[in-house]
Amino acid sequence: MTINEVPERKSIPDKDKWNLEAIYPTFEAWRNAYDQTTAGIEELGKYSGKLGEGSATLLEFIRKEEAVSLELGKLYVYANMKSHEDLRESKPMELASLAESLMVKYSAATAFFEPEILALPHEYINDCIKNEHELTRYEFFFRKLLREREHILSHELEELLARAGEMKAVPENAFTLLTDADMPFPNIQDESGNPAELTEERWYRFSRSKDRRVRHDAFTGIYGTYAKYQHAISALYSGSVKGDIFYSRARKYKDSLDMALFSENVPEDVYSNVVGTAREYSPKLMHKLVALRKNALSLEDFHFYDLNAPISHEPERRIDFPEAVEIAVKALAPLGDEYISDFKRGISERWIDIYENKGKRKGAYSWGTYGTSPYVLLNYDGTLHDVFTLVHEMGHSLHSYYSRNNQPQVYADYTILLAEVASTTNEALLLEYLLNDSQDTESRKWLLSYYYDMVRATFFRQAMFADFERETHKHAESGGVLTPEYLNDLWRKLNAHCYGPDMTIDDELCAEWARIPHFYSAFYVYKYVTGFTAANAFSSAILNHEEGAVDRYLNFLKSGGSDYSLNILRRAGVDLTEAGPFERTMRTFGERLNEGFKVWGIEA
Ligand SMILES: [Zn+2]
Repeated sequence: MTINEVPERKSIPDKDKWNLEAIYPTFEAWRNAYDQTTAGIEELGKYSGKLGEGSATLLEFIRKEEAVSLELGKLYVYANMKSHEDLRESKPMELASLAESLMVKYSAATAFFEPEILALPHEYINDCIKNEHELTRYEFFFRKLLREREHILSHELEELLARAGEMKAVPENAFTLLTDADMPFPNIQDESGNPAELTEERWYRFSRSKDRRVRHDAFTGIYGTYAKYQHAISALYSGSVKGDIFYSRARKYKDSLDMALFSENVPEDVYSNVVGTAREYSPKLMHKLVALRKNALSLEDFHFYDLNAPISHEPERRIDFPEAVEIAVKALAPLGDEYISDFKRGISERWIDIYENKGKRKGAYSWGTYGTSPYVLLNYDGTLHDVFTLVHEMGHSLHSYYSRNNQPQVYADYTILLAEVASTTNEALLLEYLLNDSQDTESRKWLLSYYYDMVRATFFRQAMFADFERETHKHAESGGVLTPEYLNDLWRKLNAHCYGPDMTIDDELCAEWARIPHFYSAFYVYKYVTGFTAANAFSSAILNHEEGAVDRYLNFLKSGGSDYSLNILRRAGVDLTEAGPFERTMRTFGERLNEGFKVWGIEA
């Protein structure tokens, strides 16, 4: 009998491994670039206090800064990706930590830049741009930076705020330490009756167990423990919210939400669309999803711990990697020849590190920097889920590829608000292709439930989080106290509204807010909802063969961060200040739900 062992990296053929040698052929080449960059960073620091000396100096600094940060980016990603090949190797680890400290040096050396620019008269920057043709490219960059000026305080007050920054970080640090290190979860019995330790990481698996007792016990164990700590955690959360309010008032924003939306120039309408759509469509659609799941699982009563219970089986057939590429190419064909040929180029030029090997980093990602290929790390194992991961990560990589090829370095990176759009668009196209392609009931069930999980986790759940954050901040801003009673009650109401009368709201669930680390970076999660919505708008327009849809989408991919995110999307035909894209997303969900009732043979 042969055991299907995880291979050592050296036994995997080169064609299946990414080509990092295209960045640096040897460690020695890396080392040389490292030495040069170290010298370059020291050079940058010398410009402190000199940016106001004229356009020529300003341009000189920017040129040098770009050259240094380009090389620094390469040093950093190469060292880290190299270490991910086999985490047991010490040499790449050493390079990664050298790159890390070089990053810190760089940040310290260039920390003068923003405050110095902000302190210069606006006219001076405009004149520099007029005098030096090469600086016109940086017009948006400076405009965005100078916009911050209205919220910058006097030198003295800024210094005071900077010192208070350490205290602002306390609630989140304490939350992380409490929940990761100090908080004990009880043991439960797994499916075979063996004792099993409960951890946050294992919740994912236990909550998907076919055995309802295991799901229930894991839920009670995890959620019940958070409920026990609700007083301490509500004090930490309250501290975090108070910090948001303190800074927003000190910097003269309308309120804390206004402050969070300001940097990306997102109008509050967008946030209201996120929260409003979820509120409006929960009774129409989420309640139906709960009914469908409850029926498919033949349950008398339905609880939070039944939401992830499997209602389908992942198809058993293995898909080898070349076949996965073929499927992806067919599914993404609506994006046109240019996209497909670049997708294939990525495969043949070895952007992807395909298979698992001993010591390799788990999971999947897309990474790289200006001046390198947009690499992808996979641990491809031949499941249908892995094919989704392939198109998802290649979605990120092609977005990076087009932005880097079409934008100058200063605008090559897209924002977090745009980051999941291309990856999710690819997933939507793959899902549609597979739904049209597979006629057997089991595959359709799997695909539909994969989609339902995505809508629930990425749209409704995140929108509920966004709703919660807006309510808690408003409450505190008008002088209210964030007691556990207030927070539990709010969470219970939001869940009851989201899931409807078919779901029993257990006491443990009411304290779930205490478990969410995202709440310590306020008003961030709405971006998952906007990303999902934009992706749905793009994929629907492309699949409906709307005129110009493909070109508009490719232009979006090529835009990087050359404008405010909302403008980039608007130019590509997706206006998130309007209800349209959100309603369209809900329409798709509604249609797929109706289909689900048919496939599972349940009366709607
Ligand atoms: Zn992603």
